[in-house]
Amino acid sequence: ASLPRFYSAEATAQSNTAASNGLVTRFADLAALGVHENVVRAITHGMGYENMTEVQSMTISPALKGKDIVAQAKTGTGKTLGFLVPVIQKIITQDPDLAHRFGGKRARSDDIRAIIISPTRELAEQIGEEARKLVKGTGIIVQTAVGGTQKNAMLYKTRQQGCHILVGTPGRLNDLLSDSHSGIDAPRLSTLVLDEADRMLEVGFNEELRQIINYLPDRKVLPRQTLLYSATIPKDVVGLARSYIDKNNFEFVQTVKAD
Ligand code: ADP
Ligand code: MG
Repeated sequence: ASLPRFYSAEATAQSNTAASNGLVTRFADLAALGVHENVVRAITHGMGYENMTEVQSMTISPALKGKDIVAQAKTGTGKTLGFLVPVIQKIITQDPDLAHRFGGKRARSDDIRAIIISPTRELAEQIGEEARKLVKGTGIIVQTAVGGTQKNAMLYKTRQQGCHILVGTPGRLNDLLSDSHSGIDAPRLSTLVLDEADRMLEVGFNEELRQIINYLPDRKVLPRQTLLYSATIPKDVVGLARSYIDKNNFEFVQTVKAD
């Protein structure tokens, strides 16, 4: 695959600074890009992070502009925050009144805006926890759907509370989306995140991914943003990217230095 706009740490260094490429390097700078103050504060005060990692700096700005992302970065480089910021900000931008709906219209389980697919139960739960820290005070509801847990309890909670961001493992997500009685649906989905794509394919989740994507609105009818992260980019991940990434509007980000 010829993936244009190849970013690397060296290329970034040569062109002076990340900031001169329109990239941000500090979380506080996200406010200037329109990111909700509660989200920025949750990172800078709640989590206590000031500077972005390389993959965060290279992906957050283009993702906030609506580009699809294919990012290669090692484990432990902060990819979770990298995709959660644009996912959350897009929901706030599309529905600015969410935070003010006291006692009014409740979130629904069939109005999911973002689905985040992760290979393991542990990773999905970690993403869910991190997302819940970031959405405080925004009105956004996060639910987690993983195997090995009570499906009915999850469904009950999701129907009671609603869901804007659904994080889960491929098997359980496929199970919920294929079940017309689950109450789980995403007719207004705006963002799909494929986390640890290489691991998902390694353990044979290709078919589940294909099925999940079949339950989502047709991209020709409702354009969606896809953010794909992987530690390595073998052939099958390139194939996945070819199928699901908007080839006319994406950024390929490859980080070469260890953070
Ligand atoms: P990855 O998904 O790339 O393996 P994670 O998103 O799980 O990495 O992040 C690894 C750890 O680094 C987490 O504990 C996370 O909270 C922390 N982290 C994320 N971003 C930053 C940052 N900018 N500065 C310091 N620590 C960070
Ligand atoms: Mg991760």
